[in-house]
Amino acid sequence: MPSIRAQLTRCARPISQSAEFSGRIKRMTASLQALEAEIIRCRQCPRLVAWREEVAETKRKAYQDADYWGKPVPGFGDPDAWIMVVGLAPGAHGSNRTGRMFTGDASGNFLFPALYRAGLANQPNGDQPDDGLALKDIFITAICRCVPPQNKPNAEEIRTCLPWLAAEVERLPKLQGFIALGRIAFDGIRKMYQLQGMDLPKMSFGHNTLNPLGGDLPWLLSSYHPSQQNTLTGRLTEKMFDAVWARGKSLLKNA
Ligand code: SF4
Repeated sequence: MPSIRAQLTRCARPISQSAEFSGRIKRMTASLQALEAEIIRCRQCPRLVAWREEVAETKRKAYQDADYWGKPVPGFGDPDAWIMVVGLAPGAHGSNRTGRMFTGDASGNFLFPALYRAGLANQPNGDQPDDGLALKDIFITAICRCVPPQNKPNAEEIRTCLPWLAAEVERLPKLQGFIALGRIAFDGIRKMYQLQGMDLPKMSFGHNTLNPLGGDLPWLLSSYHPSQQNTLTGRLTEKMFDAVWARGKSLLKNA
């Protein structure tokens, strides 16, 4: 496994729209774009490589005519992001199909309207890479870039993929905090720093729970994941989700 630094080299699908959003897109850094290219070529986890390609080959009946992405999915968003939004992994028929995080599945259909209500996205829909979605102040990514069977990457796969997350973090110079969508993302962010030799204070996962990572590191705000399992059961409501984005914005300095 190459070091984090050795892997340096990614970001958003082409997006556009209002002047407020389009100016940020034009400043997409070359290093983020290069990193994206590196991530897309990654084949380090044999089980996940096989699964992402099998899903892309067999497809869901509703998407039989679709050309599945079937590769690792890099993060996307504002290169001047203050907040990194971190999920678990691509959905089998969501971002493993579309190639953009949270795009084309039920979780994204809950997430993007919330970002729009919070003023962090230019539109509430985000169902395909060429839909014109643009993010402001946030960058969306995941701890694991390839779709795992049963949505469960194993510990070694997460550990193998975390340097990609670290490389994206290094390319967001204005980053002030993380919003972790789900416990696995919460644990993954902590693990990313621990793998770099950092001691972290004791922390607890909860919905809209804030934990400092210590020192000059960004803060870590956690949320329940916007999966159907949570949203359809009422464990995560729109009101609860909106409160997370409002709190995240309230934590920003000089924003
Ligand atoms: S999960 Fe991450 S490390 Fe593993 S093959 Fe996919 S991109 Fe590479």
